[in-house]
Amino acid sequence: MKDSEIFIIGANGQLGLALQKQYPGSVALDHQQLDITDQKAVNDFDWSHTKVIINAAAFTNVDGAESADGRKAAWRVNATAVGQLAKICIKHDIALVYISTDYIFDGQTAPHTEDEPLSPLSAYGASKAAGDIAACIVPKHYIIRTSWVVGEGKNFVRTMLNLAERGISPTVVADQVGRLTFANELARAIDYLLSQQADYGIYNVTNNGPLASWADIARKIFEFADYTNLTVTDTTTAEYFAGKDGIAPRPLNSDMSLDKLHSTGFSSRDWLDELKEYIIEE
Ligand code: NDP
Repeated sequence: MKDSEIFIIGANGQLGLALQKQYPGSVALDHQQLDITDQKAVNDFDWSHTKVIINAAAFTNVDGAESADGRKAAWRVNATAVGQLAKICIKHDIALVYISTDYIFDGQTAPHTEDEPLSPLSAYGASKAAGDIAACIVPKHYIIRTSWVVGEGKNFVRTMLNLAERGISPTVVADQVGRLTFANELARAIDYLLSQQADYGIYNVTNNGPLASWADIARKIFEFADYTNLTVTDTTTAEYFAGKDGIAPRPLNSDMSLDKLHSTGFSSRDWLDELKEYIIEE
């Protein structure tokens, strides 16, 4: 498949930017250039040269989605617009790559496998679960379920580095566990599935490596960035958000099984290795 047959939506987000590096010759449109909630713009687009749509666009403000307006916005982008993209893909025989999340689960079962029943806790999680369902009606679909994404943009690693630069020793949640997923790894796995023509369906994609809490990860960030004078103190999710309004409930266990992905022959990189490289590049 030629890069020019790949159409990236939401091209300026963390994943969108990594995909642009993966596919330099692709058609890559940001929010300004194509708003996926604009049904007419989506319908009127000339799709005749497109073989794959990778939808990296999403309403990702998890807590923002808890407000009345945020909930509507999240559903418009993460669910209704995905339904429209699904129709386009069916009409033009295009494959759809949709990015889903650990937030479609309540975090009570682990590791999460691709056939776990949906059980979102939050408005964001519900809107993404609806997008998941909409995407799977496309005959040629890859639903990529990921967690804790780190790329170019606002993310946990940057937040911790920013605190460290200001000499702050943070208190960080220690009862949510998972693995980081670097946007480059996500783009690499998507490319692998597409280029190997893996069976269509749902695939979990995160980095590999030890399961860790946010506090564990913060400690690794401080270690790798050489802030040995600073400390990270553990707290619980409940304590961290106590007294704050509009906070979305979060799944406590985001351990995603990578067995299905690895059965395709793909080998996932360890998040600790990618974290070291990311910090050197920052
Ligand atoms: P980002 O928030 O970095 O990027 C999302 C992009 O979507 C932004 O560039 C945004 O543009 C764009 N966008 C929002 N609304 C629209 C719209 N109506 N039309 C077109 N573009 C729009 O997200 P990530 O790259 O981190 O996430 C990629 C995917 O991974 C998403 O599907 C997300 O749900 C999923 N995911 C993310 C996780 C994470 O930790 N970040 C964890 C698990 C899954 P603008 O900023 O201009 O509005």
